[in-house]
Amino acid sequence: MAVEFKVTQEVLAAAKTQWDFDIAGGSKHGFKDTQLAGKPYFCRMKMIDTHTHLYVEAFDEDRDAAIAQAIAQGVEEFYLPAIDSTYTQRMLDLEQAYPEQIRLMMGLHPTHVKENVAEELAHVQEQLEQHRYYAVGEIGIDLYWDKTYIKEQQDAFDQQIKWAKAKQLPIVIHCRDAFEEVFEVLEENKGDDLFGIFHCFTGTRADAQRALSYNLKLGIGGVVTFKNGKIDQFIHEIPLTELVLETDAPYLAPVPHRGKRNESAYLNLVAEKLSALYAQPIEFIAAQTTKNAQSVFLRNNF
Ligand SMILES: [Zn+2]
Repeated sequence: MAVEFKVTQEVLAAAKTQWDFDIAGGSKHGFKDTQLAGKPYFCRMKMIDTHTHLYVEAFDEDRDAAIAQAIAQGVEEFYLPAIDSTYTQRMLDLEQAYPEQIRLMMGLHPTHVKENVAEELAHVQEQLEQHRYYAVGEIGIDLYWDKTYIKEQQDAFDQQIKWAKAKQLPIVIHCRDAFEEVFEVLEENKGDDLFGIFHCFTGTRADAQRALSYNLKLGIGGVVTFKNGKIDQFIHEIPLTELVLETDAPYLAPVPHRGKRNESAYLNLVAEKLSALYAQPIEFIAAQTTKNAQSVFLRNNF
């Protein structure tokens, strides 16, 4: 997305650092140059989709086109959360096809914690040793679909957090109808080495504060555009430095695509909604959330 941005003396004066200027200019390659003052400045809005399942069957017909379209909209990086071992090869193949754009996570999704949980966890552990992953995710607790394996879900969550800490990796949390249960496990594991993203955050203001207290950013996606999504009522009171953008494609498409297949290309609709809620230019939302995402995924890997 090419954005014409006017570089004013005020912007230059306010920009104390390279990053400040990048944010003010909404540019990936911002530069501080007083010669620019007063002149239109064309830049490309960079966004990171911190949570997208591009490797699933829903994209089998048009995966490359979906990725190309997202890139055309300014999405320059895609972080792919794992589900279970049946998808690992697909994820590795996709990373090989797009080494500059695709970043992988490894983990066992709570809705896939079943009787074979031990083998699945062994696979996660083995992969974490063999390959470079950017996070352990998505992991957590989901009591919406099924409570049969609640104990196994809690144990798997706890175990995977410990692996993330040992590898100095962030965690990406999936939580559905299980805030108390998730917070209980986080409380037991809290510390400087616990950090990451609370994906698809749908909780209350108090839940948000509690998540932040565990060094977690809030993953904001299509739900923020829903009429009954609730988080739109208070999210602007949370500092923008605590949010990252995500789609959770192919699920949870933002308005006006609600109910259809979600795509990483729709990330700008999430950014647009945040732009309205925070009363800030979309370029600022894009730049700040990009910086936030990098601070999580690259915290120990710069
Ligand atoms: Zn997901």
